[in-house]
Amino acid sequence: MPEVPFITGGESLDPSDWSQTRTLAHQMMDDMLDFLQSIRERPAWASIPDDVRESFSSPMPAQPEGAQQAYEDFKQTVLAYPLGDFHPRFFSWVNSPGSAAGMLAALLTNAMNTNSGGANHAANLVEQQVINWCKAFLDFPETASGVLTSGGSIANLMGLAAARHWAAKRAGVNVRKEGMQGFSQRLRLYSSSEAHSSVQRALEALGIGSDSLCAIPVNDNFELDLDALLAAIQADRDAGMLPFCVVGTSGTTNTGSIDPLDEIADICAREQLWFHVDGAVGAVGALSPEIKPLLKGIERADSIAFDMHKWLFMNYSIGCVLIRDPALHRETFSLTPAYLKHAPRGTASGDLWFSEISIELTREFRALKVWMLLKEFGSEKFGRLMLQTAGLARYFADQIDQTPELERLAPVPLQIVVFRYIDPSLSEDALNKVNSEIVMEIQERGIAVSGTTVIHGKTAIRTSINNYRTRREDLDVLLQAVVSIGKSLCE
Ligand SMILES: *Cc1c(COP(=O)(O)O)cnc(C)c1O
Repeated sequence: MPEVPFITGGESLDPSDWSQTRTLAHQMMDDMLDFLQSIRERPAWASIPDDVRESFSSPMPAQPEGAQQAYEDFKQTVLAYPLGDFHPRFFSWVNSPGSAAGMLAALLTNAMNTNSGGANHAANLVEQQVINWCKAFLDFPETASGVLTSGGSIANLMGLAAARHWAAKRAGVNVRKEGMQGFSQRLRLYSSSEAHSSVQRALEALGIGSDSLCAIPVNDNFELDLDALLAAIQADRDAGMLPFCVVGTSGTTNTGSIDPLDEIADICAREQLWFHVDGAVGAVGALSPEIKPLLKGIERADSIAFDMHKWLFMNYSIGCVLIRDPALHRETFSLTPAYLKHAPRGTASGDLWFSEISIELTREFRALKVWMLLKEFGSEKFGRLMLQTAGLARYFADQIDQTPELERLAPVPLQIVVFRYIDPSLSEDALNKVNSEIVMEIQERGIAVSGTTVIHGKTAIRTSINNYRTRREDLDVLLQAVVSIGKSLCE
């Protein structure tokens, strides 16, 4: 074996001239605050020019360009072509605008650069406190356990891993050892046909398989149909399969609909099934006294997955999973090899080892931004901001209903509005094409960013009002653009 040469020269990544770094840091801070302050003057989106795109195929620099040059490159090729999540007329998917306060919190987080996997340090206390606050506003028991995640997808995966573990124990299977081969029956999980794709992906990743996903039809309000759920459970039992879990969604991606969580909780109790809530969008609505009643029953879940980088406006990325039974949560994930053993004193002491209730070991200190922003603004402010976006969605729905060229395609329980341009002379097929075209035109002209989805087979313009910066005027701009572009396409 060749040996690596012995070099002890004291090279480092610390600045050789801290005052130069300080000057650049102040410049960056000023520039970024200017950037955030002037967001409204920017186009909602701009496509990346070819020469800029090509600049990303340059090879890895072996020699230094220097901090100033790297920063110039960033400004010209990266900062100039963002997705635009922060823009007041960004309405696609359910993206977070972030905030200036969130940016500052990220700076503090990264200055500390703490591994939040476990051990005895204050960042873990912050994370536990944020989780405790979440349990409190969701009326979840104080004894429940929870962990922050990169987002709703991983939170769903972890909640469903706990559900699988629970089902395995009941079936006398040691699923951590035997895997799915230990089961003699096919497991079945029920969610509405409007549930998020991350539920299916979790089943696939857990080895349960998408054949185990039973999509239950929805009613006219896009909420899970309870009679169909009961019938499906019975049919599966009759066919020798093993129903184990129902997923209720609070805030579906297409329309923002909320499944009847309380009734699903009743069914799960009666049928002895695990009740998981995918509250990626809507769960944080519980911070608003006006929205909270819509979520009734969420507090009865066995596990809840939700995001804070959607409707809670946190900078990316942060989600959370809560699990009612802390012992089961630990049993699902805990693995403690010698190098991770706890000590009675010192760094490796303490009870807060999030790595033991997670699938991650090394973890970002995600909690600080939530902790800082809740301290700065107070939780009630976030409730009011969510209510404001829901109010704007109602306003937008009313405007659409008063516009003969537009048709609304679903009720608006939260902050999502789906609608389309209509022209009686066109076939459904042609209308689908026109609406897709309208959305791309609006994006390419930098007017606004809405997305598309399909509602009852019709291509819909999906508008998620997820930004505290959005005002009525922004929705008026979108509406006028849809109508005028629609008209010009149909001429
Ligand atoms: C966004 C979303 C997810 C996935 O969350 P990520 O944070 O994007 O991983 C899951 N479920 C629903 C309902 C969502 O809206």
